[in-house]
Amino acid sequence: MTLPRVRFAPSPTGYLHIGGARTALFNWLFARRARAEGKGAFVLRIEDTDRERSTEASVQAILDGMRWMGLDWDEGPEVQMDGRKIGGGPHAPYFQTQRLSTYDRYSEKLIAEGKAYRCNCTKSELDILREQAQREKRGFKYPGICREKKLSKDTSGAIVRFRMPDEGATTFNDLVKGAITTQHKELQDEVILRNDGVPLYNFGAVVDDVEMGITLVARGDDHVVNTPRQILMYQALGFPVPTFAHLPMILGADKQRLSKRHGAVSVLQYRDDGYLPGALVNYLVRLGWSHGDQEIFTLEELVEKFDWDHVGATAGVFNPEKLLWLNQQWIKKTPLNELAAQVKPLMIARHSHKITPDLDLNRLALVLAPMVERAKTLLEMADGAVTFFERGVTFDEAAAKKHLTAEAKTILESARALIDARFAEGGHALEAAFRDAAAAQGLGLGKLAQPVRVAVTGTTVSPPLFDTIVLLGREESLARIDAALARIGTGA
Ligand code: GLU
Repeated sequence: MTLPRVRFAPSPTGYLHIGGARTALFNWLFARRARAEGKGAFVLRIEDTDRERSTEASVQAILDGMRWMGLDWDEGPEVQMDGRKIGGGPHAPYFQTQRLSTYDRYSEKLIAEGKAYRCNCTKSELDILREQAQREKRGFKYPGICREKKLSKDTSGAIVRFRMPDEGATTFNDLVKGAITTQHKELQDEVILRNDGVPLYNFGAVVDDVEMGITLVARGDDHVVNTPRQILMYQALGFPVPTFAHLPMILGADKQRLSKRHGAVSVLQYRDDGYLPGALVNYLVRLGWSHGDQEIFTLEELVEKFDWDHVGATAGVFNPEKLLWLNQQWIKKTPLNELAAQVKPLMIARHSHKITPDLDLNRLALVLAPMVERAKTLLEMADGAVTFFERGVTFDEAAAKKHLTAEAKTILESARALIDARFAEGGHALEAAFRDAAAAQGLGLGKLAQPVRVAVTGTTVSPPLFDTIVLLGREESLARIDAALARIGTGA
């Protein structure tokens, strides 16, 4: 039996789109499932032949996005992931622009066998034919002018064209869409290699899939039109044709292909917006695959359950509210120390002017605990946690004006003394002491607590005050009350 080998082959011309990420995910799940049975591999290949649009930053976004989602690769660009090296492999390099001699070798073989040929028709010559076709209201198709010319390799400006069969048809059985048939007369002798040795997409993909031993090609269904051409190339080269699975596009609410118009579509944007990778993975997989009514899946469960039979043939509509809901469910079920590890970089990225990067993860986990039930994103948690790690607070002006008044001075002074004396006894004891002090002054607890809350957190809305004081620590709590008293002193 052949070992399943699959690949994700993105073109690095932008960000890692969530549609691409879902393609990567389905391939990864399939490979992992096979690997659990002792075989199979997931290859990452960078199709960077569009030199003008391919950028280093895009490659990085793909590598970062996949690592963030937890999708490691068995072969591909070499990087560090979770403290180990991944990638590399027997078919390196995994960047198409570094593989030009391979495409040349395969193209020469096809030419020698009469299955491809050099063509030196100029653009202006072809434009004339194109215009003529337009006038006659028929589609343009390269008419094979150079088919029999047998132009040599040194022909100036020559490109290589694949000789498509004129008759017959190609049928393939797509794992998602079923049987698809294309008549050969609809195909033209397409260019496979440019004059500078760079392959066109169909040829580059076929050569690499052959070389890399790919047995199943799963990709977006925008490539269905390319598949019969690729199959003819496999056959011309004398290699077995892999199985194909074409995944329906992800659509926006208006049923148009999902794009920036609909909101965030880049994987790293979701990371930066405070989504958990597990939630995004969970959402993307359900947008095209189902397992009964189950909504929440871990990666491990998905590896166990994923199959092509339950990949739907109709396009999924992206629903940001559902993703947000899933994120909330994932926040609730993620251990606090993992949440802390994910929230910390967001805090540093957003509040670097207020906090130092050495903040303690154990303390952060304690700070996050009361937020878990309500927070929809890690960003909310990051913003809420910042006050526990900065020196001093920035007062909300309205709250300060209302509560840090001359009358509040004695309240704050007595609160300061209480915290100083009883801090070590913990939050409950502090609360009881505040209650007693309020009663002694004939006040409600709120009256006493509100100026303290503003002094300590800068605002009138905060997590429970006494937990906040405990988490802030004695020194910082007192320093903040001192700062509030100083402000009252200056009459600000
Ligand atoms: N580079 C192609 C793309 O990004 C890959 C298609 C394929 O998987 O064959 O669409």
